[in-house]
Amino acid sequence: MKLLCDHMLGSLAKWLRIFGFDTFYPDSTTNDDFILQIASREKRLLISRDKELLIRAKKTLVPVLEIQTTNLTEQLQQVLKKIPVDEEKILSRCTVCNTLIHSVEKETIKDKIPEKVFQTRNEFWICPSCSKYYWMGTHYENMREKINTLVRKEPL
Ligand SMILES: [Zn+2]
Repeated sequence: MKLLCDHMLGSLAKWLRIFGFDTFYPDSTTNDDFILQIASREKRLLISRDKELLIRAKKTLVPVLEIQTTNLTEQLQQVLKKIPVDEEKILSRCTVCNTLIHSVEKETIKDKIPEKVFQTRNEFWICPSCSKYYWMGTHYENMREKINTLVRKEPL
């Protein structure tokens, strides 16, 4: 299921991309009419804390998930409860622009990443759309820990 987060949910949108969900996040110039249009046209679930927007979405039959908390972890839990994570898709998407990333030969990006990173890491990915590079650094390990906490299976 494709998703759309409202303006107030930027961190959540970024994290949903980390989990591999195709997540549209509007820029500051995007108004509510356009948000509803995209949700409807691209069949995206509207994730929102904006009461007015939610009422309008329901009238236009756009499916919604209402978020009540400002706590990011609780927001993520709420979404993941409704839409299961496909573990194979975790960390497959650019967190900046939502495009699927792909692996890239280490030697070809020597000048484009910090030297220390080049020397200590062997696997790299690139976003074909915004040219952001990804590798498994400390940031990745922290992320992985959060992911594991959130998708830990319920005890049998
Ligand atoms: Zn990108």
